[in-house]
Amino acid sequence: MVLGSKIFRQKTLYEVLSVSEDASYDEIRAAYKSAALNTHPDKAHTTLESSVPSNEQQEFLSVQKAWEILRSSKSRADYDKQLQSSRQNIEIIASEIEVGDMIIESTADSMELLYPCRCGDYFSITSCELGDMGILVTDDGEVDPQASNPASASVVLGCGSCSLKTRLVIDKTS
Ligand SMILES: [Zn+2]
Repeated sequence: MVLGSKIFRQKTLYEVLSVSEDASYDEIRAAYKSAALNTHPDKAHTTLESSVPSNEQQEFLSVQKAWEILRSSKSRADYDKQLQSSRQNIEIIASEIEVGDMIIESTADSMELLYPCRCGDYFSITSCELGDMGILVTDDGEVDPQASNPASASVVLGCGSCSLKTRLVIDKTS
């Protein structure tokens, strides 16, 4: 989880209730009860159905919504999945690798460059594909600076199994 990020981010349901993401049902229920008490708009003269909800009411409603989802193990699991994939999308930008970081596998007529994904599969690109982009890779898996004329400074590689992506940076050193 990225803490202290300056980018505006919606609170997670766990943050709404101030519980950790591995909290038990009982912990979540206790947190919901105290959050509901703290945010309950019963002092206000308006009802929840009134046209413009106040900040207090909105907070109360988001506490209710968080509880509705997290109280059921099924909807909680669905929500956890969503949360995870939204974080993976952020990580696309963060993870950068270089050709030298990759594992080389020689095939009959080309080389395949692999980089392990956290799911157990690999990000991969072949030397032919790199060649098409003007990048020549030597047998020991380094970019040949003399023979290469990269069309772009980086390539985004997708994982073979999951939705994760990584950015392969072509020419970082020179
Ligand atoms: Zn993967």
